[in-house]
Amino acid sequence: MSETKSEAELLKEQLFYKPQHADEVLSDADKVSADEFCEGYKDFLNAAKTEREATAEIIRMAEENGFKKFSKNFGYEPGDKVYFPIHGKAVILTVFGRRSVAEGVKIAAAHIDSPRLDLKPNPLYEDTEIGYFKTHYYGGIRKYQWPAIPLALHGVVVKSNGEKVSVRIGEDAGDPKFVISDLLPHLGAKQSKRSLAEGIQGEELNIIIGSRKFNGCESDAVKLAILKALNDKYGITERDFQSAEIEAIPAFKADDIGFDRSMIGAYGQDDRVCAYPAVVAALDIENPEYTCLSVLTDKEEIGSEGNTGLESRFLAQFIEDLANLESVDVNDALRNSECLSADVNAAYDPTFSDVFEKRNSAFLNKGVVITKYTGARGKSGTNDASAEYMGKVRGILDGENILWQTGELGKVDAGGGGTVAMYISHLGVNTVDLGVPVLSMHSPYELTAKYDIYMAYKAFCAFFKSK
Ligand code: MN
Ligand code: MN
Repeated sequence: MSETKSEAELLKEQLFYKPQHADEVLSDADKVSADEFCEGYKDFLNAAKTEREATAEIIRMAEENGFKKFSKNFGYEPGDKVYFPIHGKAVILTVFGRRSVAEGVKIAAAHIDSPRLDLKPNPLYEDTEIGYFKTHYYGGIRKYQWPAIPLALHGVVVKSNGEKVSVRIGEDAGDPKFVISDLLPHLGAKQSKRSLAEGIQGEELNIIIGSRKFNGCESDAVKLAILKALNDKYGITERDFQSAEIEAIPAFKADDIGFDRSMIGAYGQDDRVCAYPAVVAALDIENPEYTCLSVLTDKEEIGSEGNTGLESRFLAQFIEDLANLESVDVNDALRNSECLSADVNAAYDPTFSDVFEKRNSAFLNKGVVITKYTGARGKSGTNDASAEYMGKVRGILDGENILWQTGELGKVDAGGGGTVAMYISHLGVNTVDLGVPVLSMHSPYELTAKYDIYMAYKAFCAFFKSK
């Protein structure tokens, strides 16, 4: 016996928007592909934990897929694939299209830096026979989350003779790890009266790095023993830290989360969860109509500053190089270009529901999230994508059956944030944010859903193919 639906029910189905969980709408093939895709994503997370490592890993992947280093004097054919590194911390992948770049390029732009603790220029000291590194945090962290977790050290030391020493310690089996101490609850009564923001303060983020003494040394014997070990291993002295960039980051590996393995927990998913799909989409596209760029940038977490961040001119300069190859006007190329600013958004967190506005939040497993505007206090500090461009992107995603949702970053006036979207739109490029919802964003262990990650990959593929 079939039930007949009322007129109201039929009309509701026709007129209402009802966000759907991926399990309700994805094909079985997409569900299998999502899990497979995320195996590669986890490998990427483990190999590429800093912006330098991500740049190197992306170049390695690109070369393996036939990309060559870009030369601004070479005559490229449609279908050719190149990569362009920017000071070792950012990289642009390009697949040449059949049309002139004067007709515009398609840009997917994600960032590969993440919040962390950088070593200060004079980091090493000893207090009460314990060796420490002083740190200066990078990007928006909640400081109380960083003590009492295993840390790894990643980065480079450049000696005055120009020799560069790579450091990566705390990741491999058998490596030592490092840690910041916190008070025991028995003595934490006074500290517990601090606000959460001040629970741990910036100058308390001191990393413990050793405790044994150099024999026969009267003072600073622990510090001397540590420096001797560093000198034996890396050939460095204390002064060399002043020309070093060493990042302390969580020593966790990426793992499946949940009995159903539906999610991924890892450090640095903001924004590698968008960077990886954008990279793989560039590797996978063949003979596109428009020239396609995946831009993997640095410094987003501190405002896109510096010559490896998107407030610099590196992207405009590169597109100018492309225009020069064809002797066309770079301004035409920029005005006709389109961009997906590929960055994460906050996923609705039922445990902390009061900061979200549920009708306009992004949710885990409801697909890739399009964010029309970010910013704070009345859309200040944002690219506010036009209805026309939103409509176009919507059509591209719907055309390929890609599950997508919209999301605002929390309630109006609850806070806010920004992405690289506004810097790319400053160039005249039509831009909108599109990325993956994240729980515990900016924490040492961020959480994402596999279906959403795969939808991001499909979204970038569809965008690169679009007219
Ligand atoms: Mn981000
Ligand atoms: Mn961020």
